[in-house]
Amino acid sequence: MSAAMSAPASPLPALRGRVQAGAPLAPQTWFRVGGPAEWLVRPADADDLVTLLREMPAEMPLTVLGAASNLIIRDGGLKGVVVKLARGFSEIVVEADGVIAGAAALDVTLAEYAAAAGLSGLEFLCGIPGAIGGAVFMNAGAYGAEVKDVLDWAEIATPEGVKRLSNAELGFTYRHSQLPEGCVVIKARFRAQPGDSSAVTARMNEIRAAREASQPVRARTGGSTFKNPPGQKAWALIDAAGCRGLTLGGAQVSEKHCNFLLNLGTATAADIEELGEEVRRRVHESSGIMLEWEIRRVGELRA
Ligand SMILES: Cc1cc2nc3c(=O)[nH]c(=O)nc-3n(C[C@H](O)[C@H](O)[C@H](O)COP(=O)(O)OP(=O)(O)OC[C@H]3O[C@@H](n4cnc5c(N)ncnc54)[C@H](O)[C@@H]3O)c2cc1C
Repeated sequence: MSAAMSAPASPLPALRGRVQAGAPLAPQTWFRVGGPAEWLVRPADADDLVTLLREMPAEMPLTVLGAASNLIIRDGGLKGVVVKLARGFSEIVVEADGVIAGAAALDVTLAEYAAAAGLSGLEFLCGIPGAIGGAVFMNAGAYGAEVKDVLDWAEIATPEGVKRLSNAELGFTYRHSQLPEGCVVIKARFRAQPGDSSAVTARMNEIRAAREASQPVRARTGGSTFKNPPGQKAWALIDAAGCRGLTLGGAQVSEKHCNFLLNLGTATAADIEELGEEVRRRVHESSGIMLEWEIRRVGELRA
């Protein structure tokens, strides 16, 4: 096959990391659904990422993927550049009163490093199945703590270079941060208190057991689908609207925790998103409350 026929010409700058045209994304997501990336880029390091952000065509959309544990990628896939941070962004450094982690490090890995060093305060991260970049972007939280409570700073890659933002500059609110448009979190520092390693490990084991008992943690899911409205629990509103176990195509509202949607095996992204919309309609009808999506939905509907 001639070179001209083998692949579309890349509009992207020369990079040291891997660039793939038309890369399948579904296998990289917790839901296992969604179409391909027009361009999937795994930058080698922060400099490589800054080069990409600075030199990629200005009109090209940019999407960042973490562990894709809070994401529905639509069936038509993602136009433009999809950045997936990998090895060059996964270093973890333990300090006397905190931990610095690369954005690709998993939340659970950070929690385990902290526990091994006898640092407490980061146990809540052990049950959140995302990566650090996604945890910062989403202000992830569980069991009474969230990223906002423990983050000192985050470094972000921008077209102008790497910048460090303080906790206040990230403008955290419930499951939300105000990260500047077109930027990528590459590293963050989390505060922790010197404590007793075995007590920290025991707390993490409690959290893991509580999750196993109450959430479908081994299913194809995206975690909590909707934000809790002020003073309410989304799962209770969904249950009261009669949606527990509701199915649409290959998607189902979890019987175990009804703020979780499941891919039973054959779901498309459209099945999952339409089921979520049906739940919102029914909850609104029964309670007058319109639930707000926590799961991020990105990409194109299938043509
Ligand atoms: C079984 C299960 C249980 C869960 N339990 C919880 C829970 O208790 N608490 C909770 O808060 N969440 C929970 N979640 C949801 C999810 O794990 C968190 O929101 C997590 O922080 C998302 O991280 P991620 O790396 O998977 O991000 P992704 O899902 O990949 O992305 C989420 C958003 O963050 C953006 N993003 C990701 N990385 C970066 C980056 N480096 N720079 C800029 N933007 C970025 C993406 O573009 C997207 O908009 C759960 C999910 C599952 C599947």
